[in-house]
Amino acid sequence: MDGTFNENDLSRVVEADRKNVWHHLIQHQPFESAIDPRIIVEGKGMKVWDQKGKEHLDAVSGGVWTVNVGYGRESIANAVRDQLVKLNYFAGSAGSIPGALFAEKLLEKMPGLDRMYYCNSGSEANEKAFKMVRQIAHKKYGGKKHKILYRDRDYHGTTIACLSAGGQDERNAQYGPFAPGFVRVPHCLEYRAFEQEGAPQENYGVWAADQIEKVILAEGPDTVGALCLEPVTAGGGVITPPDGYWDRVQEICKKYDILLHIDEVVCGVGRTGTWFGYQQYGIQPDMVTMAKGVASGYAAIACLVTTEAVFDMFKDDPSDKLNYFRDISTFGGCTAGPAAAIENMRIIEDEKLLENTTQMGAYMLDQLHALADKHAVIGDVRGKGLFLGAELVTDRDSRAPAEEAKVQAVVGNCMAQGVIIGATNRSLPGKNNSLCFSPALIATKDDINHIIAAVDKALGDVFA
Ligand code: PLP
Repeated sequence: MDGTFNENDLSRVVEADRKNVWHHLIQHQPFESAIDPRIIVEGKGMKVWDQKGKEHLDAVSGGVWTVNVGYGRESIANAVRDQLVKLNYFAGSAGSIPGALFAEKLLEKMPGLDRMYYCNSGSEANEKAFKMVRQIAHKKYGGKKHKILYRDRDYHGTTIACLSAGGQDERNAQYGPFAPGFVRVPHCLEYRAFEQEGAPQENYGVWAADQIEKVILAEGPDTVGALCLEPVTAGGGVITPPDGYWDRVQEICKKYDILLHIDEVVCGVGRTGTWFGYQQYGIQPDMVTMAKGVASGYAAIACLVTTEAVFDMFKDDPSDKLNYFRDISTFGGCTAGPAAAIENMRIIEDEKLLENTTQMGAYMLDQLHALADKHAVIGDVRGKGLFLGAELVTDRDSRAPAEEAKVQAVVGNCMAQGVIIGATNRSLPGKNNSLCFSPALIATKDDINHIIAAVDKALGDVFA
């Protein structure tokens, strides 16, 4: 793999980027002085190369849990190319061959769910789900059952409605006012249960779910339409649900006739070792949203999947002119997404990547625990499949979060060693102290050993 550019191209691209591109989620000031923007030029398997030809092992699947089957998949590129030449686009009021076939293939993996709605980002899929909840409230409950519950530390996207359902204050700061009708419930991070008033030492999972019921009762069950949760919380700290949590959540939703909306934008399509994160916990959602891993970033695609019961609510009275989901997504009609997604799924099945994710995830979890034995700064290790995190603390008794600058220094030290890892969101203190790992589902033991060795050195260097 030759990732180098000649000197002239390199400086031209860096300057074009520096002058013209507004990068996502970073402060730009350093680019105006000493630091060059990072340009990723090429990728193959688990690796990417930057503008300087430097090789990086990518332990975060494209930075944000996306490139599940790894870089450089010619078969996906070919499937997309063939489809684009045949038909690139037609609005989603009509069907397409890859759209129909991908829906059929994916829904086979989701027993109890029956309908697929296409769009093009995780935020958009979540917005569509919120709109469905609102429309159902109007159709069935005179507008009353319209509230949407979301959880502290969960994230559902970047638009104003998604931020209104956003449990990460650092993302929301300065973007209000937000949309009404979204109500926060407490998180379920057992490691930080001691910060929650009344949390028990035992059966924390059931207690954490019961806190949701308390909010429902306070709001009035006849006003609550849906509960939107990540199966494993991603950017909020890689929070795996405690035992007993999901069973109780499901029970509560059934008891109060509340739709369970699972946000699988990160967990979906293999990340945890099953097709979907919710399948790890035996739950039956009414709505599922997904995006990132659906086509591993080879094309933009997002989906909202619902039960037939939800679908039926939008067609029961044809004489009512408003009785359909009055929504469109222009690029939900692009055929590249489902064409890439079909091939992405074939790769996951043929290469047995779910099995690999389960095995390599267990191996990596063990290795992270071994690192915790060596570095007292690791307070907690958690995760499911190849979706893992390590929370850093200044001391294990108080569990006080490690300083943000040091967490970032660990990430930077790994980067200097040629290994890209992630950390939870920055900006506001207190919740920015977890390292995040989400290598592609093709990761081998060698890749994991390489990542762990880099983190080992970085922790040693930074916390010496
Ligand atoms: N939901 C979750 C759990 C996410 O992590 C994200 C993005 O990181 C989103 C939704 C939003 O997805 P997108 O950036 O595609 O709009």
